[in-house]
Amino acid sequence: FIEIRNAAKSFGALEVLKDINLTVEKGQIVAIIGPSGSGKSTLLRAINELDPLTSGEVWLDGVQINKDLPFRQYEKHVNQVRQDIGMVFQHFNLFPHLTVRGNITLAPKMLKGLSDKEVNELAEEQLKRVGMLERIDYYPSQLSGGQKQRVAIARALAMKPKVMLFDEATSALDPELVEEVNLVMKQLAEEHMTMIIVTHEMGFAQDVCDRVLFMDQGYVVEEGSPDVVFRNPTQDRTKDFLKKHL
Ligand code: ATP
Ligand code: MG
Repeated sequence: FIEIRNAAKSFGALEVLKDINLTVEKGQIVAIIGPSGSGKSTLLRAINELDPLTSGEVWLDGVQINKDLPFRQYEKHVNQVRQDIGMVFQHFNLFPHLTVRGNITLAPKMLKGLSDKEVNELAEEQLKRVGMLERIDYYPSQLSGGQKQRVAIARALAMKPKVMLFDEATSALDPELVEEVNLVMKQLAEEHMTMIIVTHEMGFAQDVCDRVLFMDQGYVVEEGSPDVVFRNPTQDRTKDFLKKHL
């Protein structure tokens, strides 16, 4: 469903991703763990062309995302394929000057050409899903971090994406707010949303994910079921990392 082939990425002389191969089946939930600077965010951002690969291919549902096209066609292609990829960031990235409703309706209105009535229904439906309907007319500044993140998830879901990417969605939150966001992600997992989740919460990865990838220095060093990666890692680098983080 998602396929990353021979992916490499450099920033100048710095090689950040080195020959990464990854297949994610439809409905699968994959966790990416690893030390700071190992390339986790870069890999996620390569999937939706925020950080295009230097070489290699990214495919989603039979469509190559990182196509080599003349500029105008490329822009059009990327805008199209990004509609299928929901992304949630550590720092929410909500539009501060728009209400919750405005944040959620903007993209569906602009990109899908839906009517006001349709986008409002969509916003209500997605906010219900994350338990935030009663805050629909609030501004982001009037919300807690956990609430902002739930709105950010609802905003991504409103585009009806084929896959959701999470980059440390809970790591900027106060500890008591982490659970409400984790619950929403668990609920999506139960609905078999295809997800790639970069996280440093090993417990969450173990509970929710079908597969765990451990990255270090731009390589996928180890991957397998949570049971295997967390309980019986084969690589020394994985063992060292888990010793510090479990
Ligand atoms: P963290 O756990 O701290 O979020 P990460 O695994 O997500 O780390 P990345 O953000 O993917 O790591 O970064 C991998 C490497 O690429 C780092 O050495 C980082 O400094 C470098 N890097 C990332 N983005 C850029 C950029 N835009 N320009 C130059 N170097 C970058
Ligand atoms: Mg990162």
